[in-house]
Amino acid sequence: MSLSRRQLLTFWRRPALLRPPGAIAEAAFLEQCLACGKCAEVCPAEAVFMQRDLGRARETPVIDPAQMPCVLCTGLLCTHACPTGALKPYPNDDPQRAVIRTI
Ligand code: SF4
Ligand code: SF4
Repeated sequence: MSLSRRQLLTFWRRPALLRPPGAIAEAAFLEQCLACGKCAEVCPAEAVFMQRDLGRARETPVIDPAQMPCVLCTGLLCTHACPTGALKPYPNDDPQRAVIRTI
């Protein structure tokens, strides 16, 4: 398959995908995430979706801010929905403390 120049430029300029707030370091995240999708289910902004990429065997949750950014909802709901600790809640659910990692 060949890509047009425009398609290539679009690909290169594509902003990085993000993990939901509270994501632990990427290597540990990939070990702990069960791909259960609970973080995506609770997101009121529908910003979290499950995607298989980079040759991974299963889908993992990502945010594409160009499509729908995280709005740092009250309670940072995704951080509480995660059953494994792949996403960790912040003290007092303070959005000022939220760190969002790229992948
Ligand atoms: S903090 Fe709220 S809005 Fe942001 S990704 Fe998590 S559930 Fe969605
Ligand atoms: S809730 Fe936790 S374990 Fe489930 S998909 Fe989201 S990050 Fe992974």
